[in-house]
This record gives sequence, structure tokens and C-alpha cells, in this order.
Amino acid sequence: MTETAETKGLSDVRLGARPLIVCDVDEVVLEFLTPFNAFLKSRGHELLPRSFHLTGNIVSLETGAETPPGNVGSLLEAFYASQLEWQEPADRASACLAALSEFADILFLTAMPARHYDVRRALLDRHDLPFPLVAADRDKGPLIERLHDDRPQPLFFIDDMPHNLRSAKRHVPAANLLHYMANGTFRALAPHPGEDVTVASNWSEIEAVITGRVEDGQTDA
Ligand SMILES: [Mg+2]
Repeated sequence: MTETAETKGLSDVRLGARPLIVCDVDEVVLEFLTPFNAFLKSRGHELLPRSFHLTGNIVSLETGAETPPGNVGSLLEAFYASQLEWQEPADRASACLAALSEFADILFLTAMPARHYDVRRALLDRHDLPFPLVAADRDKGPLIERLHDDRPQPLFFIDDMPHNLRSAKRHVPAANLLHYMANGTFRALAPHPGEDVTVASNWSEIEAVITGRVEDGQTDA
């Protein structure tokens, strides 16, 4: 597969004849909202859990006024550049992914801009998360379709954003979809991702669901 300015890591992916688990990174493998809020506070802003959005919910600590979108973009960019200082794995993510990798290929698919690929790779490696990483700041469904192709093995996709899960379903109808969001406050605000999506509240549940379906052959693909 060809790399573009928007994607990095695609050409390094080599899949075995095993189940494939495509896993989002921010808010799934790595904590995002909790450390991002700590970062915002260090810069004079704050994320308020008023709704399931970043937009409109980041305010000035001093005045309470909404932080302009352009400033939010700059803050996100600075956070990604300094993620080694802020982000940690979600609880039990490393151990559960290690267990799942005994019988499945793991692939990280992050929507983060590709220019931050190297620092994210270093962060994942630091926490014993050595699995291949694809950074692609665009729709995930077509990428998952290209990666999985017509392989007969089961495909699992874990993400915190319902629109990413719907995109995967449109392009790979047989995909097994799981919703997980590490931050419990915002997880409670998340819209239901749909009847065909398994909602998990921790990594042990994710591991149990995937392991059970593979052992029982309860997968569509
Ligand atoms: Mg995410």
C-alpha cells in the first residue's frame, strides 16, 4: 500500500493467517481526555464534561469563556508533540493486548496527524505496546477494508468514536465492533454506538469478548 502525506505506517503492516484486531489509540489504548485536561489546565484552560464533544467544552480557567477553535487546534497540536510527558496506557491495556496477541494480530490505527508518528511510536514502545502503528488522519473504514481485504479470518475493531465504528461497518460489514472509552465521565455521555456494537467498560471485558468469540467461532468473518 502506498503512503501519503496523511498516512504513515501502512507499508510496514504484515498480517498473518490469524484473527485481526484493529485498535484505535487515543482513549482506547492510551488515556487521552484525562491527560489532555491536565495539559489544558497547565496552559490556563479546562475541558468541561458538558457533552460528548471537545468543541465548545474547552474554556478559559480565568474567565470561563469558550476557548476559540483555532486555539484549541494549537493546544491539541502542542499536546500531541509533548505526549511522551502526558499520556499513559489505559488500565490493563498492555496486559490484555499481550494476551490477545497470543492468537491474533494487533494493529493500532490512530487518527492522529502522521507528523507525530515517531513520538507516538516511542510512547507505545515505552509501555510494552510493540504492535504495528498506522497514523491516518482520515476516514477509518476504507483503510480497514484495504488492510483486511478478503481475508477469511475474523476482524475486530475497537474505537471510542461511534462515527469510526459506523465507517468500519459500512466498508467491512462482517467486522466485529467494540466501543470502549477509557475516561468514565465522557463514556457516560457517549451516544449508544448501535445495536451491532459491543459496549465495553474496561480492557478485561474487551479481552473476554474477543477471546470468547474466537474460541466459540462466533464471528461473522
Ligand atoms: Mg480515539
